[in-house]
Amino acid sequence: MASPFLHAILPTLAKLAGGWLRMALPDHCALCHRRAARQICADCAHVFDANRPDAPLRCRQCAVALPWPPTLADGIVPQGADGATICRTIPPLTCGQCLRLRPAFDTTLTLADYVAPLDTLMIRLKYHGALPFAREFGERLGDALSECRDDAALLVPVPLAPSRLATRGFNQAWELARVASRRAHLPASAHVLHRERATTAQRRLSRDERRRNLRGAFVASDRARGRRIVLIDDVMTTGATCDAAASALKRAGATHVLVAVALRTPPTP
Ligand SMILES: [Zn+2]
Ligand SMILES: [Zn+2]
Repeated sequence: MASPFLHAILPTLAKLAGGWLRMALPDHCALCHRRAARQICADCAHVFDANRPDAPLRCRQCAVALPWPPTLADGIVPQGADGATICRTIPPLTCGQCLRLRPAFDTTLTLADYVAPLDTLMIRLKYHGALPFAREFGERLGDALSECRDDAALLVPVPLAPSRLATRGFNQAWELARVASRRAHLPASAHVLHRERATTAQRRLSRDERRRNLRGAFVASDRARGRRIVLIDDVMTTGATCDAAASALKRAGATHVLVAVALRTPPTP
């Protein structure tokens, strides 16, 4: 007779295996459904091209898409040469939110906005175990990090609370980090940053409520001391999670925290 533990995790295992098998050998683009060798075909992947004419300018600190043209009235000012930029591709602009309340992380890199149809791929990854999408996004994050040429960086995933990890069966941030690590030839470790306590789901919370909810949620080990950290997560919404995680890393002695997220929630109009 199967143990209660095995009985409890069987649905999760079946979900993971089913999702993986359906997409392990893609022959169609997940977005346009035309034949393709990757999860996202070359045509649909233009959304990741930061140099395309309609690509948004982004805040160098939190990567939120900025209104165009940026003006002082929008609360946006050019940064000086003290920006400590480690990635050439991040424009020297800072949004009003980051100017009002500086996050603990130094800069942010993202592939695209968290909008349709890309958001559905991330939902399939997180909630339906579609792990091949971690490979798709992780490889693109790895390519972007390679352009930064920061050989000293250590990739660290935002950890899940143990209870959520047990329910989901995997941490999507770690899945992204280990793919990006291989691609960019940078080390990665899931043993640097830990969740000290579980937090309530953030989705319905305001920015201030998220900050309060996450206070003291993370703790970083001594392995962060003196390191330049690349903090990996799937989606940045308000930035409160990455801010709390970066605070813990800085308290532990990290010298610089670059956040690398697959997708960034755009500002509400
Ligand atoms: Zn396509
Ligand atoms: Zn910002």
